[in-house]
Amino acid sequence: MIIDLISDTVTRPTKEMLASMMSAKVGDDVFNMDPTVNELQEKAAKMFGMEAALFFPSGTMANQTAIKLHTQPGDQLICDKYAHVYNYEGGGVAFNSGVTCKLIDGNRGMFTAEQLEEVASTTPQIYLPFNKLVCIENTTNKGGGACWDFSELEKIKKVTKDNNLKFHLDGARLFSALVAKNETPKQYGQLFDTISICLSKGLGAPIGSILLGSKKDIEKALRLRKLLGGGMRQVGFLAAAGIYALDNHVNRLAEDHQKAKEIGIVLKSCSYITKVESIETNIVIFYVDKEIGADNFIAKMKDKNILLTPMGEGKIRIVTHLDYTNEMHEILLRELKNF
Ligand SMILES: *Cc1c(COP(=O)(O)O)cnc(C)c1O
Repeated sequence: MIIDLISDTVTRPTKEMLASMMSAKVGDDVFNMDPTVNELQEKAAKMFGMEAALFFPSGTMANQTAIKLHTQPGDQLICDKYAHVYNYEGGGVAFNSGVTCKLIDGNRGMFTAEQLEEVASTTPQIYLPFNKLVCIENTTNKGGGACWDFSELEKIKKVTKDNNLKFHLDGARLFSALVAKNETPKQYGQLFDTISICLSKGLGAPIGSILLGSKKDIEKALRLRKLLGGGMRQVGFLAAAGIYALDNHVNRLAEDHQKAKEIGIVLKSCSYITKVESIETNIVIFYVDKEIGADNFIAKMKDKNILLTPMGEGKIRIVTHLDYTNEMHEILLRELKNF
């Protein structure tokens, strides 16, 4: 048995999810004739109280489309130094949109309205890139699954409005934040111009993301998705997995969060662990003794069929998910204690 804790993207569709995929009604979505895709998009838009939604093959494509939609070449987007759009999308912001990133030195991937104000309120000069867009991430990936304080987001929204900036949420793991903080999709729908969510992370679908926004923005996004090569045909089979995930896999995220917390408690009791970041959702980030070393620790765990990810600077990441069973959890806790 392999205990794969590399990411929450490693899950396989459940039997029930596969059954709903197999029975999906499909059509050519490039001609807007796939009823299941349309159903998923309408469902998501309604959930968030936003006008429209568009199904994407990946979260990266959804984010990149949003960035393209809000900017012109030479513009600047503002994000945290840990942001996925800056670190893990292949430099796509430059490749696709010709924009630069202004990085804020936040805490665990999150910054304050005050920090944003400082960079957003500079007087435009011909020699400065134009600030156009603020991107935030909830939960933060590189920040260890941390959740934003909603009242801080409201303050940030005000700064974006005062400075005429668009506001995009990279919500790849937004549902983890909603469950952890007891918040609703509609709260977020009111705050952002565009939101991307992933169906293929904690929600357990094999593929798929959704971009939400105004009707006008989503019409533009449809054209941009086509330009990026993301127009898909009988993709309702995959959208059906997304519908199933939204109906059945949201509330259970609490189980993943609980397991992550239990892993954190055990890690803190181990003498060879030097630090465990605070655990809010399904991501655990920790550091081992320099004498052991992160790479060596990961290799030793791999020998026991336990897969973990190095996150640089000595960080090690564990992500709990739908396919991480109670049995695997017992084994992991034992191996950590006995290491
Ligand atoms: C996973 C992820 C994405 C999208 O990644 P894809 O692999 O393209 O689906 C975007 N943002 C964050 C924060 C993520 O964790």
